[in-house]
Amino acid sequence: MIPPLMPTYNRSKLAFDRGEGCWLIAEDGARYLDFAAGIGVNALGHAHPGLVAALSEQAGRVWHTSNLYRIPQQERLGARLVDATFADTVFFTNSGTEAAELAIKMVRKYWADRDEERPVTLSFAGAFHGRSTGAIAMAGTEKLTAGFGPLMPGFTQLPFGDHDALEAAADARVAAIVVEPVQGEGGIRPLPTPCLRGLRALCDRIGALLIFDEIQCGMGRTGRLFAHESADVAPDIMLVAKGIGGGFPLGAVLATEAAAAPMVVGTHGSTYGGNPLACAVGNAAMDVLGDPDFLDAVGRKGGLLRQRLEGLVATHPDVFESVRGIGLMLGVKCRVPNRDVVAAAQAEGLLTAPGADNVVRLLPPLIVAEEEIAEAAARLDRAATAVARGAPG
Ligand SMILES: *Cc1c(COP(=O)(O)O)cnc(C)c1O
Repeated sequence: MIPPLMPTYNRSKLAFDRGEGCWLIAEDGARYLDFAAGIGVNALGHAHPGLVAALSEQAGRVWHTSNLYRIPQQERLGARLVDATFADTVFFTNSGTEAAELAIKMVRKYWADRDEERPVTLSFAGAFHGRSTGAIAMAGTEKLTAGFGPLMPGFTQLPFGDHDALEAAADARVAAIVVEPVQGEGGIRPLPTPCLRGLRALCDRIGALLIFDEIQCGMGRTGRLFAHESADVAPDIMLVAKGIGGGFPLGAVLATEAAAAPMVVGTHGSTYGGNPLACAVGNAAMDVLGDPDFLDAVGRKGGLLRQRLEGLVATHPDVFESVRGIGLMLGVKCRVPNRDVVAAAQAEGLLTAPGADNVVRLLPPLIVAEEEIAEAAARLDRAATAVARGAPG
C-alpha cells in the first residue's frame, strides 16, 4: 500500500526536534553535527538569533499581502541585492525551481521581443536546475527527465568540459547558455575560471544570454557572495535560492536591465514570491552574508575543512579518492558507494549529503566554528574506518 506521503524520497529514519547553530537534536536527544545544512540552505545554521528575531517580529505584524501591494521588506532586499551584484533588477520566488522557470520565460521573451528565432538553450552534463517540467528539460540530465516526456523543447545538454562540442553548438540559434559555476547535485564540480570567462566571451560573440545558476553555490557558500565573482565575469541572469532565506522558502532571479526589459506588467507573477515573512528573513540573512569579513572567514574555514578532508583521503585511500569544491562547498569522491559513507557518518553523528558522481557533499552552515570542522573530520574518520571494515551505518 502506498504510504500517506508520496514515496519519492529516500529518507533517513531520523527526525529532529530542534537545532542550535551547526547542531541538530533528534527526537531521542541524540546530537548531530549538521554538515548537510538542509542541502546548503541553512547558511546561518539553526535557530540563528538574528533570523529568529526577524521572523518573529514580522510574524506579529503582517505575514502576507500579495504582490498587489508594495512590500517594503522586498523592496529593501531587492535594492541590497542590486547594490551587491551585477544585477539591475530582482524578481523574488519561493524556490530555486521557480527561479529557473522564470529564467526560461525571460529568455523566450527576450528573443520574441527581438523577433529572432533562437530555439535552443545550452546546458551541461550533470546540470541541476530544479524539478519542474521546464527545469528538468533545461538541465537535460537523464536521471531527472526519464519517464517525463514529452519534454519541453528548446534545450540541448552538452558534455561537461568538452570545448569542441561547445564550439560546434555555439551559433546564432542559441538563445542562452545556463551553467552552475559550481555544480551541486552533479557532485561538487567547479567550472574553472577560464571556462567561466570563455562562456561569457562566447555568449558575447554569438549574442546569447548567459545564465548562472547560483542556487547552491551562491549566498556566500564559496567565500564570495556569489561564486562567479572570483572569475570576474558577470551573467545576464542569475538564479538564487537556498541560502538566501536561511531555511525560509525564498528564491530570486537577478538580471541586467537588458535581460529583464521584456518582462513588463502582466508577463509574470507569484502569489507568495517575496512575501513579508520571507523577505524579513532574507534581509536578516543578508545582514550577515553581505559582510566581507564574514565571507573571508568562510574562505578560511573552507581551506581548513579541505585540508582535513585531504588528510582523510590520505588515511583512507580505499574509501576516499579525492576532494573537490570551493569554500564551504566541498565534495569527497568515494571509492565505496557514497551512500554507505553518508550512512556511516550519520551513525557517527555527522550529517552529510550524497551527490552524483559518487560524491559525499559537505555543505556546513557558514557560521561553522573551527572546532566543529575538526569534530566533523574526526567523525568522518571514524565513519571511514567503519565503512572500510564493511559496517556501514
Ligand atoms: C536546489 C537547486 C535548485 C532547485 O531549487 P529548489 O529550491 O529545490 O526548487 C536549482 N538549481 C540548483 C543548482 C540547486 O542546487
